[in-house]
Amino acid sequence: DLEWEQQRAWVEIDRAALVHNVRQVRSLLKPDTQMMAVVKADAYGHGAIDVARTLVAAGVDWLAVATVPEGIELRAAGIVAPILLLGAIHTDIQVRAIVQWNLQPTICTIPQAITISKSVAALNLDKPLNIHLKLDTGMSRLGANWQQAETFYREVSSLPYLKIGSLYSHLATADAIDRTVMDMQLDRFARSIAAIENAGYAPPLLHLANSAGILTTDRSHYQLVRPGLILYGLCPAPHLQSKIDLQPVLSVKARVSQVKEITAGTGVSYGYRFIADRDMQIAVIEIGYADGVPRRLSNRMQAIVRGQLVPQIGTITMDRLMLDVSQIPDLQVDEIVTILGRDGSVYISADDWANEVETISWEILCGFKPRLPRANK
Ligand code: PLP
Repeated sequence: DLEWEQQRAWVEIDRAALVHNVRQVRSLLKPDTQMMAVVKADAYGHGAIDVARTLVAAGVDWLAVATVPEGIELRAAGIVAPILLLGAIHTDIQVRAIVQWNLQPTICTIPQAITISKSVAALNLDKPLNIHLKLDTGMSRLGANWQQAETFYREVSSLPYLKIGSLYSHLATADAIDRTVMDMQLDRFARSIAAIENAGYAPPLLHLANSAGILTTDRSHYQLVRPGLILYGLCPAPHLQSKIDLQPVLSVKARVSQVKEITAGTGVSYGYRFIADRDMQIAVIEIGYADGVPRRLSNRMQAIVRGQLVPQIGTITMDRLMLDVSQIPDLQVDEIVTILGRDGSVYISADDWANEVETISWEILCGFKPRLPRANK
């Protein structure tokens, strides 16, 4: 195995920044509000195992993942914190894996609950499976219709082998400046809880807020919050930036593999989408779109070389890209270039990339592929 120091490119994780962000989120919460860190999609591309360990050590109470294999990966690494599965599961095989690895599934419909109850029954366990009920209060994704909250809760409560661990929902527009939809969802969630309580039930744990919800209003906090993005040090929207002091956790580095001179008029990379307008020095860098640098950033991104911003030129290829390094005359093969993150006083953020290619920082972060080793700073 190559050590990450010898690799062509890698993701660098700043654990201290992660811990800082946990503390920042904590400072916005009431003392008894729990925190569930969302570490799905390989902890938003940061590397799930290491991130989860750091988060748990920093006082996070719960972890959330999207899929059964994501949960198993954490358990197999020895992580013992409770893990909520955000995705919907249905099959016997999934239930067996959930039980074996001590994961806690989300239930979204009564038929799903019946199926899972039967699967658990067949396993002859000595205790019920902890499950979490999800309501759809306006996202129109997973969850039972909030208007049927009371029936849903009652029916699932009556099933054997299942124990309700929480009731939750998810916000669709908490990052918008206009709060109309979020207020509607807050209201629907509150009314759902009231209906369930009026029927004589007491949901043991209530939760609703994602990162943007946490920053926007403490009405969304309930007894537990589910931050993802802000733990990784990015803000869900510019207007929320002033609410919290975040430090980005991830940087991406890559090495120079060749330096060359080209003359005016020379074309660079596939399709000659860049033609040198002067004699220049260029560098080949060992990272490409197969690592998670969007090809749409071709001719539209910069990198940091020795603390200086330099333009990327020509089409980004699968495994490498070219930089105009005319301003760095003695650049050497094997030098390390910052593709994303900070070098000295210069910083390129996932938001810069996201704005350039019209996506969101979430997609940029979870786009970094497993072939980039994750290294600690
Ligand atoms: N809760 C649920 C159900 C989610 O699906 C997600 C992520 O999409 C989150 C919380 C965390 O969201 P964010 O990264 O915006 O904080």
